[in-house]
Amino acid sequence: MRLCASVFVCWLASISAASAGQEIPDYPMRQVSEHVYVIHGPTEIPTPENRGFMNNPAFVITDQSVVVVDPGSSAYIGAMVLRQIRKITDKPVSHVFVSHIHGDHWLGSHAIKQAYPQVKIYAHPQMITEAKGGGAQVWLDFLSRLTNGATDGTQAEIPTEVLQDGQVITVGELTFRVYLSEHAHTKTDAMIEVVEDSLMFLGDIGVYQRMGRMDDGTFRGNIAALDRALALKFKHYVPGHGPAGGSEAGDAFRQYLKTVYDAAVKYSEEGLAPYEIKAKLMPRMDQYRKWPLFEEEFGRQVSLAVLEAEQAAF
Ligand SMILES: [Zn+2]
Repeated sequence: MRLCASVFVCWLASISAASAGQEIPDYPMRQVSEHVYVIHGPTEIPTPENRGFMNNPAFVITDQSVVVVDPGSSAYIGAMVLRQIRKITDKPVSHVFVSHIHGDHWLGSHAIKQAYPQVKIYAHPQMITEAKGGGAQVWLDFLSRLTNGATDGTQAEIPTEVLQDGQVITVGELTFRVYLSEHAHTKTDAMIEVVEDSLMFLGDIGVYQRMGRMDDGTFRGNIAALDRALALKFKHYVPGHGPAGGSEAGDAFRQYLKTVYDAAVKYSEEGLAPYEIKAKLMPRMDQYRKWPLFEEEFGRQVSLAVLEAEQAAF
């Protein structure tokens, strides 16, 4: 029988042996406020090289336990998040908050649940519905395909705890406040405030120095959610991708969305085609053009904005 340092290490060895999945190295964590640490992931799409790691897993250390937000794309990334937590504290993980259905944010919950079977995993009610309705498997397959199987062995640990807008959850001495949207980046978005730290986790409602995806979202809903988050004037904002910071970490993407959507409304009323609107917008895109994924996303997002503007006009 193999000797393992702990049940958790044994489990990790067993999933590695049972599948082609790959462990990932420790990425640096940064303390962004008194109780909050963020591991800033790569800002590209999932690849065999990054093994699917592309989001911003975070953890909040309370005087009783640890709260994890968005533990990444795979069990291996979730395990890396746990290793980073253990460099700072041996308190157990009691809560996980999932920001939305996209699997790069939450499939790492598998490792957290294995290490802490009592952990409560929270999400927007629609996230739970979509994950159970096939969304979890779609994301497992998608990440496996893009990473050549580096995420294989990961199982979907679908959240069981349903969040409500305005809900307040107390963990230790800290207060977490919940902000749900109807249709922003997706139909499943939750933003989480850490009240004592004047900090908000934006999920993918806010991205910074990297393009977001709008395929599952609405421009108006996403802008409204960012307006809501930024009006609260927190000291810290943690985007779903890209560096944490002050209000600029949410406001840059808000400005981008508003510029594109306002142009879509104005120019589609004037009868311009999406490619003409794209050309009109391009000179105003200087600060976004250098963001990773801009080239891949911008043209399609102009088309999506035009479609939404036309639908809104009816
Ligand atoms: Zn997303």
